[in-house]
Amino acid sequence: MPLNPEQLWDEVLSHLKNNISRESYELWFKPITPASFDDKFLNLSVPNKFFSDWLQDHYQEELEKLVKNVTDKDVKVIFSLDPNSKKLIIEKDIEEPAPPEKEAIPSPVPETSFNRSEDLYPKYIFKNFVVGGSNRFAQATAEAVANAPGEVYNPLFIYGGVGLGKTHLLQAIGHHVKEKFPHLSVFYITAERFTNEFIESIQKKQMINFRAKYRNLNLFLIDDVQFISDKPSSQEELFHIFNSLYGTHNQVAFASDRPPKEIQNLVERLRSRFQWGVIADIQPPDLETRIAILRAKAESENLFVPDDVLLFIAGEIKANIRDLEGALIRIVAFSHVTGTEITIDRAKEILRDIIIKEEIIGQITIESIQKIVARHFKIDIRDMKSKKRTAALAFPRQIAMYLARILTEFSTTEIGDSFGGRDHTTVMYANEKIKNKLSVDPYFSALVNKITGEIKSGE
Ligand code: ADP
Ligand code: MG
Repeated sequence: MPLNPEQLWDEVLSHLKNNISRESYELWFKPITPASFDDKFLNLSVPNKFFSDWLQDHYQEELEKLVKNVTDKDVKVIFSLDPNSKKLIIEKDIEEPAPPEKEAIPSPVPETSFNRSEDLYPKYIFKNFVVGGSNRFAQATAEAVANAPGEVYNPLFIYGGVGLGKTHLLQAIGHHVKEKFPHLSVFYITAERFTNEFIESIQKKQMINFRAKYRNLNLFLIDDVQFISDKPSSQEELFHIFNSLYGTHNQVAFASDRPPKEIQNLVERLRSRFQWGVIADIQPPDLETRIAILRAKAESENLFVPDDVLLFIAGEIKANIRDLEGALIRIVAFSHVTGTEITIDRAKEILRDIIIKEEIIGQITIESIQKIVARHFKIDIRDMKSKKRTAALAFPRQIAMYLARILTEFSTTEIGDSFGGRDHTTVMYANEKIKNKLSVDPYFSALVNKITGEIKSGE
């Protein structure tokens, strides 16, 4: 019995999957539907011309080989455009595009912190938060907390890398509670601002007011709480506020760029409070989620972006959602301003710096950092990983640890392991020490820049 097109295509895909990366598979092959198959032609339906061109250039031969393996016949693979393919964006009238208005370009994604709870950013609501495997748990716990503040998961502790949606989720809780329980008092603040306010209250002898304000909250949202490391009296104050709110069944939620155990110089009892409820991490989004986020953003801002460009952006920018959105906006802004059409090649040009940043982050290894730093200080790379603690070794080692922290995505624990099994606190210490020296010593700073340049160029 001859195979039908679906069976044949399934068979081909199952082989293909083993030979290509998951990303390529998701990006290029998942959107394909087999249209027809006779003994001479396999007709594959693709979303747009960009797809067919790209597939012809890169996969035609391989696909035909796989088809031959399955059917034992010489079948030619052809591509046709899928008339029903869903557009990723809302197409405006293409025949006669309205002259773009400058104001229509959305401003770049805000990075400011919002000090008072009236300053919750209006767009940071649950409805605008795209859920995927990387953030599902954090989103679900945040929503549960927002629906029943003080009753489940108290405190909630959300952590994850830069630009992955922590502030968005934290503020979404705030919006939701304000709307659903208007009688509850909600307050959002960054830890930095909290610390400043605390110090100011001491100076102005207004601690009574300060305490009253915080201890009367029903929902207290504190963002970037890692900032409080090294600030024992702010920690102390936060500890008492937490106890008071917790004891009266009021909700507290924290966001941080790292888990409680990695926040350095934190009094133990506050660390333990952070861990009392639920700890939810947010990971970088997978390709599907990135595409969904771009689509949602394009739709909500009414941006016109061709599908292929959208896929291109999602394929290139992986580590940071703020960059992902920034890329979209930058491209649209460019096309508005110059009045030119957006193409992949142009997108590549416009986003070059973001793409390079992404590549660097993925490519640099701890080993390569150690090698280049060791070379600079004329020491043996093995000594860098040894237990020896002479100043001639300890200092370069600290520089290498610092660079590993800023140029790679490894955790302090992983970095410690790569330096002869040192503790993560040693890495944190090195990081702080080098950072401090950099801020006061321009010669040192020039040296570290030079080394960084060499690491980035892989020389
Ligand atoms: P963080 O606080 O983790 O550094 P933010 O919450 O500021 O990150 O998010 C950065 C940007 O990415 C914001 O504009 C936010 O709306 C957007 N963003 C993050 N995660 C998502 C998501 N899952 N869906 C939609 N937008 C997101
Ligand atoms: Mg944030």
